[in-house]
Amino acid sequence: MNRIAKNLGLYLILVLGMMTLVNMFLTPEEAQKQYDEISYSRFLKELEADNIRVLQIRNNTVQGESTSATLQGELKNGKRFLTYGLDASNIIDKASLKGVTVTIEAPQKNVWWINLLTSLFPTLLLIGFWVYFMNSNMGMPPGGGRVLSFGKSKAKLFLDNRPKVTFNDVAGCEESKEELKEVIEFLKTPDKFKKLGARVPKGVLMLGPPGTGKTLLARAAAGEADVPFFSVSGSAFVEMFVGVGAARVRDLFEQSKKFQPCIIFIDEIDAVGRHRGAGLGGGHDEREQTLNQLLVELDGFDDTTSTILIAATNRPDILDPALLRPGRFDRHIVIDRPDLKGREEILKVHMRNKNFDNNVDVSILAKRTPGLVGADLENLINEAALLAARHDKENIGMDELEEGIERILAGPERKSRLISEREKKIIAYHETGHAIVAKILPGSDPVHKISIIPRGHAALGYTLQLPEEDRFLISRSELLNRIAILLSGRVAEELIFNDVTSGAANDLERATQTARQMVTQFGMSEKLGLVKLGNKREEIFLGRDISEDRNYSEEIAYAIDQEVKSIIDHCYSKSKEILNNRRDLMDKITNILLEHEVILGDDLDKLMKDYEASKNPVTLEKDSSLPSDRIDNIPSSSTDFLA
Ligand code: ADP
Ligand code: MG
Ligand code: ZN
Repeated sequence: MNRIAKNLGLYLILVLGMMTLVNMFLTPEEAQKQYDEISYSRFLKELEADNIRVLQIRNNTVQGESTSATLQGELKNGKRFLTYGLDASNIIDKASLKGVTVTIEAPQKNVWWINLLTSLFPTLLLIGFWVYFMNSNMGMPPGGGRVLSFGKSKAKLFLDNRPKVTFNDVAGCEESKEELKEVIEFLKTPDKFKKLGARVPKGVLMLGPPGTGKTLLARAAAGEADVPFFSVSGSAFVEMFVGVGAARVRDLFEQSKKFQPCIIFIDEIDAVGRHRGAGLGGGHDEREQTLNQLLVELDGFDDTTSTILIAATNRPDILDPALLRPGRFDRHIVIDRPDLKGREEILKVHMRNKNFDNNVDVSILAKRTPGLVGADLENLINEAALLAARHDKENIGMDELEEGIERILAGPERKSRLISEREKKIIAYHETGHAIVAKILPGSDPVHKISIIPRGHAALGYTLQLPEEDRFLISRSELLNRIAILLSGRVAEELIFNDVTSGAANDLERATQTARQMVTQFGMSEKLGLVKLGNKREEIFLGRDISEDRNYSEEIAYAIDQEVKSIIDHCYSKSKEILNNRRDLMDKITNILLEHEVILGDDLDKLMKDYEASKNPVTLEKDSSLPSDRIDNIPSSSTDFLA
């Protein structure tokens, strides 16, 4: 259709151009070239002298043939001449008196349609150009199209050029793959399902944190399914003008009807599927219309439709509930952060086609990367490969991979950052404080590494704790533990230097946040009880609050603050107790840290054991300063961001 319209515009211009040319050549001017012009007075003289045989009068142009030899001698074209008179009737009278044959031509012998066309020509030319340029944009990739393609969907259609990704390239989300396979199965053999009276799924929504492989999975589905596949991003529907998004949705579904059975994939659907009426400022009118159109199209699917809509989002919380109800996006495939096994498999996928040292152990890597998603893991392997190349190595070794992990967790090393000896000492004590408290509190995640090499944009030092297994629940004592460890850096500074620095800002922020969550969300404060306070618009996938609806009184707000403070104080004193009893250990570890900049977990273990043995040979493990409530730990590293 586009092609035809485009060619039409081109032909229109060509035809018009040709007609103008023809018209130009057909004008009388051209014909007059065969006549030589003579003056009017000369003409009158010749007429008087009976030297003229034939006359043709057209408007005030007079053409004739002369019989006079003198005139004929002067004329280049033999006997033909031409002159212009003001009053033709005057000439006619005179000529007929002399017996000259006079013919009078109609004013113009143009054909009516040429007339019409020439008068319309400029307008038609403009329209021609317009059509031509508008259409020439249509074949362009999404985003290239301009004005006329406004209402066209920008979806990319994959017919035979499907992505080469298959389900084998997606690791660690077996259930999600199974579900998708089932959906594809339906498209291939709908009868099998219909025979059983099963309602056909219309929409499949994939939800999960960013980087977990939603887009990848959809591309794999396209690679696996033997059906046409439309791929479009939710933001492609969004335009400045009201109604455009809706038109695009309509167009997309219109197109898809021609290719049934097919799959339509809308990535980042939250761009259009936002809760209606929740727009900030203006412009949500447009989004609502787009969403409405999407709902209408989904409802328009009937038994004969074999199109399946797959959408992906990492913000299911902001989607309009109407989208999620049965009959629309009724299948939800949750793609969560990969667990230990999942991470191992994802790492394996990305380690294919790369060379590694023999000592590289994927299971260890997987263990050291809790909380990382597929995109991070891919990045990790890539960073390691880059580092290996920088070291001119043939294979990627464990060292590069370890460094890759730290780069992802805390940013690249910044050895060049100049830090004064005094500051280095403060940082070392601060980190030692974290490490010792994390070691002493039972059940804490093992300390993997302490480092005072600056990393990333703000970390001056860090203590890396890695959990031994994936955790899904966290107990009250574990949370308290977490807070105590976070505060211990500050405690160490205070104990050793009698002064504190700004370096604990991030620790304090995280400690406060944890304490607040305990009080307002987890019901872990006796004073306030099992009440959820405040409606945090926070989702599991987001880990970040957008705003908070306060649904409690000033009094409660005050009580919350009091409780948070008391938790922090409690943890602080615990931390202080632990460190105060181990000043000599702190000195020892700090000195090693200052010398080597890094202490690995195993070495720290040994230092701690030796110390405990020397100090208290009888009770090796039990510590008198142990907090009464057992505190375990958190699956995260404590990095220090010095503001
Ligand atoms: P999302 O769309 O969920 O934000 P992507 O699908 O764009 O994430 O993933 C980004 C990249 O991370 C992928 O291109 C892939 O290289 C890698 N990745 C993510 N998840 C996986 C997985 N499960 N298996 C293999 N690679 C993955
Ligand atoms: Mg994506
Ligand atoms: Zn700290």
